Amino acid sequence: MSSRIGFCVLLLAAGLSTPAHAEWVRRITDGIMGTRITVELWSEDNAKGEQAIDAVLDEMRHIDESMSTYKPSSEVSQVNAKAADGPMQISKELFDLLVTAKEYSVITDGAFDITYASVGYMYNFPKHIRPSEAQIHKALPAVNYQHVLLDPKNQTVQFTQKGVRIDLGGIAKGYSVDRGIDVLKEHGITRAYVSAGGDSRIIGDRFGKPWVVGIRDPRKGEGEVIKRVPLIDAAISTSGDYERFFDEDGVRYHHIIDPHTGHSASKVRSATVIGPYATRTDGLSKTAFVLGPDKAMEIYNRIDDIDAIIVRLDGSVIYSKGIQPDRPPTAQPAPAH
Ligand code: ADP
Ligand code: MG
Repeated sequence: MSSRIGFCVLLLAAGLSTPAHAEWVRRITDGIMGTRITVELWSEDNAKGEQAIDAVLDEMRHIDESMSTYKPSSEVSQVNAKAADGPMQISKELFDLLVTAKEYSVITDGAFDITYASVGYMYNFPKHIRPSEAQIHKALPAVNYQHVLLDPKNQTVQFTQKGVRIDLGGIAKGYSVDRGIDVLKEHGITRAYVSAGGDSRIIGDRFGKPWVVGIRDPRKGEGEVIKRVPLIDAAISTSGDYERFFDEDGVRYHHIIDPHTGHSASKVRSATVIGPYATRTDGLSKTAFVLGPDKAMEIYNRIDDIDAIIVRLDGSVIYSKGIQPDRPPTAQPAPAH
């Protein structure tokens, strides 16, 4: 009798100490920042994993509210409306991201430039609308990151002239992915994948295996990949001319704008950048479109911790110094990127 009681107690104790169902938790959400958000994580407890994902999505909604140029009430829209009139105080979060954006403009010889929007706002790719040459000519002098004055002491932004507009579409998704990872870490998560559109970051591994991110073939369907990249603790961003575009008279008009011409930047088909933070990989992935494969690769190779894979206009693929193209993929397929 006593031994039977002992057995029951033991079972109960085992039941209490077992985690409440450890598992991979995955959610795909459309509509925040106009893109698809994927969060996948390992959680000792399903409910806690779901809560952590809720917190990531809340953070991304906050970033969308504050940085979208589609929302007239956003802080960035307010900056666009008022910063040419004088110094304007802004949140620390926006100020810091504007400082980072300016750093990328310097690193990329001006290829990355958030003032592209001074011309860029006249394009509407889904509606096949583009500015005339005369409109571009008139607006182009306002495109220059040096027109954005940032005063760290007073945390203000000012535009040097009227007509300057900024848009963080080339960096905000990467930033939101980094913030999402921060939120997950605050929730005690150590293995996770977060992506917003073409920008992803990974923490930890998949129990001894890397995560594997597929890079899409720019001229084929979404499932077709040119390479699978095994990653642990890394960020990856891909920019492509197939994301937001329309073709007219044999010319492709798409969403990456050359700040020097105001036209779509079309020197490559796609560029993938790998590095430690998604803010950085996002900020750098547009460079190849503006500067072309060789000059961009020179810049990527110069920066510590950055690797790149570029698909040239003829479809050939080039790799930065740190990547061995012939190394076989080390793990099974994972989320398409
Ligand atoms: P996604 O938005 O899918 O992450 P990208 O990372 O390639 O795609 O970013 C494209 C976006 O970058 C454009 O929609 C636009 O908002 C912004 N952008 C376009 N040209 C430039 C540029 N020269 N410098 C900085 N940002 C740019
Ligand atoms: Mg991006």
